[in-house]
Amino acid sequence: MSDKVRVRFAPSPTGGLHLGGVRTILFNYLFAKKHQGKFILRIEDTDQTRFVEGAEDYILECLKWCNMLPDEGPHIGGPFEPYRQSERKPSYKKYAEQLVAQGNAYYAFDTSEELEAMRENRKTEGNSSSQYDYSIRMQMKNSLTLSKEQVDALLNSGKPYVIRIKMPENETISFKDMIRGEVTFQTSLSDDKVLLKADGMPTYHLAVVVDDYLMQITHAFRGEEWLPSAPVHLLLWKYLGWESSMPQWAHLPLILKPDGNGKLSKRDGDRLGFPVYAMNWYDAKTGETTIGFRERGFLPEAFINILAMLGWNSGTDQEIFSMEELIQQFSMERVNHAGAKFDYEKAKWFNQQYIAHTSNEKLLPLVQTSLKEKGIYRTDEWVLTFIQLMKERVVLLTDFVEKGGYFFDIQHYDLDQIKKRWNEEKKVLLQKLVNLFEHASFVSADLEQLTKDFMTVENVKPGDILPLLRLSLAGTMQGPAVFDMMQLLGKEDTMHRFHKSIAFFDTTIS
Ligand code: GLU
Repeated sequence: MSDKVRVRFAPSPTGGLHLGGVRTILFNYLFAKKHQGKFILRIEDTDQTRFVEGAEDYILECLKWCNMLPDEGPHIGGPFEPYRQSERKPSYKKYAEQLVAQGNAYYAFDTSEELEAMRENRKTEGNSSSQYDYSIRMQMKNSLTLSKEQVDALLNSGKPYVIRIKMPENETISFKDMIRGEVTFQTSLSDDKVLLKADGMPTYHLAVVVDDYLMQITHAFRGEEWLPSAPVHLLLWKYLGWESSMPQWAHLPLILKPDGNGKLSKRDGDRLGFPVYAMNWYDAKTGETTIGFRERGFLPEAFINILAMLGWNSGTDQEIFSMEELIQQFSMERVNHAGAKFDYEKAKWFNQQYIAHTSNEKLLPLVQTSLKEKGIYRTDEWVLTFIQLMKERVVLLTDFVEKGGYFFDIQHYDLDQIKKRWNEEKKVLLQKLVNLFEHASFVSADLEQLTKDFMTVENVKPGDILPLLRLSLAGTMQGPAVFDMMQLLGKEDTMHRFHKSIAFFDTTIS
C-alpha cells in the first residue's frame, strides 16, 4: 500500500457517539496508522435541521479520550480546509449544476404539498413504492417535464427548487467492497435523491462524494447502514468523471443487540442497563443525560480493545491487544461481514483485565477523580495503596469507590455473617485481640504476626477470629487482606471501627 493512504471519519454532529461510531473511527484509525497514512475528521453538518449544539466538541472529546487524534480536521486544520461541510457550502453547487447540464440530474420545483399528494396518490393506487423515482418523475414539476423557458422563468423568479439525481431506469451497477466483495445494485430501486437542497446546501450524498474527491480520500469505511446509498454515490463518482479516484469502500458490520436481532440501540442499553454511547451525552431538548462508557468506569484502552473485537479477529486466540498490536495486525480482510453481537459481560471482562494490568500510577488520577466526586479526599500516597489493594477486585473504575466503600466508612453490616459467629466467648476473644492492637505498630506484617501469636496463645483457629476481625473492620466478608486494610486505615480509624462494631454487635445480636 502506498504511503498516500487517506481515510476519514465523517460524522454528522447530531448527538452522542454510539459505540458503532467509535468502532468506525477505530478501523479508520488503525488502517491509516498501519499504512502510515492520514486520518481525517470531517464534520458533515449540511443538514441544519439535525444540527445539535455541542455535538462536535463531544466528538473531539471522544477522540481525545480514545487517543485517536486526527491528522487533519476542523480543530487543527490541514491542506484541505475547511473540514466542516457547512463552511464549504459554495463549493458544491457547481457540481450539482454540472450534473444537470450533463443530463444526470434535474431541477425539481415540486412543493411539499405536491410531494405529499404524490405519495398519497401512489399509496391509494396500491403502488409498492411512493418514492420520487424513474416511474413518477415524468409526472412531476421538474426540468424534465417543463420547457426550457418555463424552467428559466422559475429559476429567475426565485422559486425554491432542489436538484435531484436522475437514476438510470434499468442498470446494474456494482463495486468491490473490501469486506463484502462484489456488491451489485439495480438502479431502478433507488429514488432520485436530492443532491442540492432549496437552501443551497448539498445533501449528504453530494457532499460526501465531492469531499471524498477533493480531500483525496483513498479508502472510505463506514457503517453497513450506508450500503443502500452506495449506488447513488457510485453514479455520482462516475457522472462527475472521477471514477478512477473513487476510494475503496468497506461497509462495516452492524453491532447487534445482545438479545434478539437488530442493531444495538441506545434504547437497548437503557433497557438492559449498559452504556451504548462512548461518553455521557446530555440532551438539551429532553434534559436527559445518557451514560457513557467513560463515566461508567471503562478505561479507554479497554474500550478500544472491546470495539476491535466487535467484527474483527486476528485469527488467533489472542483477545487482549494494545493499540500498537492492533495497528500491526489489523486488516479489513479479517473483518466479518455478519453483524457482531454486543456482550456487556465480556466488555466488563476486558475492562477488568485492563485495570488489573494498568500501573497504580496511571490509575491514580482516575481513582482520585471518582473519590473526589463522592467528596472523599485522601493523599496520593494513600490512594496508591488503596488501588494496589483493590485493583484485582474491581471491574469498573467506579467500583473502586463503590465496591471499596468500606475503606471510607462501614456502610452496612452483613448481619447474617455476624450472627453465625458472634457469641459471648467470641466477644471476649475479639476484645482481647483488639486490646493488643492498641499497643501495636500498624504495619501489616507486624499485625499479622501479633494475631498469629495471639491465636497460638489462645489456642484458636484462624476461622474463629479472622472473619470476625474482618466483619468488625469492614462490615462485610469481602475485601483485601485484613491486615493490609488495617495498615492503610491507620490505628485511629481501625481502633474506632473495632470499638464501634463490638458495641453494635453486642447490642444488636442476642
Ligand atoms: N455523515 C455520515 C454519518 O453521519 C457519514 C457516512 C460516511 O462515512 O459516508 O454517518
